[in-house]
Amino acid sequence: MAGYTPEDEQIIEQLYNELLASCDKICKNESDWDMIIKAFFLAKEAHKGVRRRSGEPYILHPLSVAKIVVDEIGLGAKSTAAALLHDVVEDTSYTVADMENLFGPKIASMVDGLTKVSAALSDDASAQAETFRKVLLTLSDDIRVILIKLADRLHNMRTLGSMPRNKQLKITSETMYLFAPLAYRLGLYSIKTELEDLSLKYMYPEEYAAIEAKMQATAEERNVFIEKFIAPIREKLTEAGIEFTVSGRVKTVFSVWSKMQRKKIPFEEVYDLFAIRIVFKPTDIVPEKSQCWHIYSLLTDIYSPKPDRIRDWVSFPKANGYEALHATLMRPDGVWTEVQIRSERMEDIAERGLAAHWKYKQQQEAEDEYDRWLRDVRNALSQPAGNAADFLENVKMTLYMTEIVVFTPKGEARKLPVGATALDFAYDIHTNVGNTAIGAKINHKIESIYTKLKSGDQIQILTAETAHPTIEWLDHVGTMKAKQAIISYLKRVRQNNIERGISTFERRMREFGITPSARLFRKLLPAYDCTNKDEFYSKLGSEIINLNDVDKVLRQNSKNKMLKFWTFELSGNNKPKDLVVRKQDVGDDSEAQKFIIAECCNPIPGDNITGYRDPRSGAIIVHKTDCEELISLGSQQGQNLVSNIKWSSYKAESYLAELQLRGIDRVGILRDLVQVITIERNINIRELQIQSHDGIFDGKISLYVSDAESLAALKDNLLKIKGIDKVDRL
Ligand code: MN
Repeated sequence: MAGYTPEDEQIIEQLYNELLASCDKICKNESDWDMIIKAFFLAKEAHKGVRRRSGEPYILHPLSVAKIVVDEIGLGAKSTAAALLHDVVEDTSYTVADMENLFGPKIASMVDGLTKVSAALSDDASAQAETFRKVLLTLSDDIRVILIKLADRLHNMRTLGSMPRNKQLKITSETMYLFAPLAYRLGLYSIKTELEDLSLKYMYPEEYAAIEAKMQATAEERNVFIEKFIAPIREKLTEAGIEFTVSGRVKTVFSVWSKMQRKKIPFEEVYDLFAIRIVFKPTDIVPEKSQCWHIYSLLTDIYSPKPDRIRDWVSFPKANGYEALHATLMRPDGVWTEVQIRSERMEDIAERGLAAHWKYKQQQEAEDEYDRWLRDVRNALSQPAGNAADFLENVKMTLYMTEIVVFTPKGEARKLPVGATALDFAYDIHTNVGNTAIGAKINHKIESIYTKLKSGDQIQILTAETAHPTIEWLDHVGTMKAKQAIISYLKRVRQNNIERGISTFERRMREFGITPSARLFRKLLPAYDCTNKDEFYSKLGSEIINLNDVDKVLRQNSKNKMLKFWTFELSGNNKPKDLVVRKQDVGDDSEAQKFIIAECCNPIPGDNITGYRDPRSGAIIVHKTDCEELISLGSQQGQNLVSNIKWSSYKAESYLAELQLRGIDRVGILRDLVQVITIERNINIRELQIQSHDGIFDGKISLYVSDAESLAALKDNLLKIKGIDKVDRL
């Protein structure tokens, strides 16, 4: 493979030196420097001679990613080394084990994570939801992996121009769908903004170019306007002795485009093309928060504020850590303009997100919004993988959520997504509170736990030990935490119910002397409206169903079954074509010829049969040929008899038949009878009536047999029982 030209080497050298200059602020000691330098030379060697699609040496990519990691995200030396190595395992012969030997376990595991994310993304066949899940899984290991991945994505987006069109579209759609929201959620505002802007540029190049041109055309005019707007602010704040910078922030093409889409307006009607940002240096005397409000009040001396458009993210930071006070002021030309007021610390967090956040957090111990969100995501990921799409819904909600702030009875603020209910709030307090919630006092008024909350509501959850989650609750919660708690409760209960159900069922069946079998369940499940055994047991265990009338159910069910599988065939000449019916289910409501089993003689397969066509319905009622009823009908309406009917392929397992028995009563005769029928012949008894008088035994048995032949065999067997001397079919 060809090496790099001297010109290439020069470009590499230059970028490498820039990276080292940036690293000056993150390298704490000699070994930090050694690690980064070693990572660079290994990566350079590993990607030797390889070029990107644009033609530039490949090593420029990891170098650029590392630079973003340091300059734009603010991560430390280990992350920088991992960024330099991020494509080494994926693209070259180095392994994760090599990384571990050379750089230790931390960097090795980051490189491993980055390789896995790449693999998840390169899998074209995988559903996006599943990809999303895989990518987020890296969050549970080490959030730095996602931050480095964002840097990687940002550099790929910046250099997307040399990619073929289909690749561009794949990468931009992933960026919009996954990486921009993630960047937002992790508080990386400028990266999020740039990712969106670049995505738009490649997705809709013409629209992008048009908006960009119009913005450039008005740039000068706007800058003058901004300066004029800012001047009195500058004066006023300086007068008040505040150290600050003030600047006009021009909207990105993407945000202008979004507004045009959202409001369905042309470019010319997007007036708020810029916002003003004031970043102040806090004094030690007054808290930052008070200083924000102080500046706000100074501004209102100059411009009229819109009172209902104050966003106080100082008292209640956004879930992604964002803090600032946003006000809206009237411009001299009558257009409302947003002003963002932040301290330097807040600015740092707003621009660099998570990394900056951690930097400031070291002083404070308490778990904050960030930690809580990360914990939620981790929890979600640690749950057994359910439906990937559901999972995605949950995570997406926490990525995009706009929040409301509500309060506990003691005045503690809690943040919940818009649309959250009192039940979500209950679960936010504690899983046990959620699980036992029965109602809520919202602003001192008793309301249902399903009530949707509004910002500012104060909520007290009413609980009862006896209360518990139901499946319906899932329709009334929106937070991931509540959903998961309810699902896991229901699962637990279901498992207990299943166990209880099994023992109830087995006990009842023992009473009947029935051994549960697949066949038995095929009868029971439809009758109890269950689709599987677990559902049946669970419903039984939770007493949704009971077995009080199981004998009746068994009977009914078998009848249905019998109807379903009993089939006939018409044959012979001289009959309308549509009468030729094969494998037609009796009782089926289809257009085909309908057969009905006559109740008077109850023929079963193998019996000699004759049909009678009901002149009104056209259905053929099937009788035994020697049925008296049929003979009587035939004598009056011979034209309606259908003799060319025979049993066809019958799949039924059992048909109802009745036997009458007579014999000499003796101890144990009943047991012998049951033994022969159920065990030797394996036939299910539906009903058994025995009468014994003066030493004579009279019995009637309804049972399910498969056909006439097996009924005849049973008769023979029964006659062999000592004492039985007569067995007749009814
Ligand atoms: Mn890469």
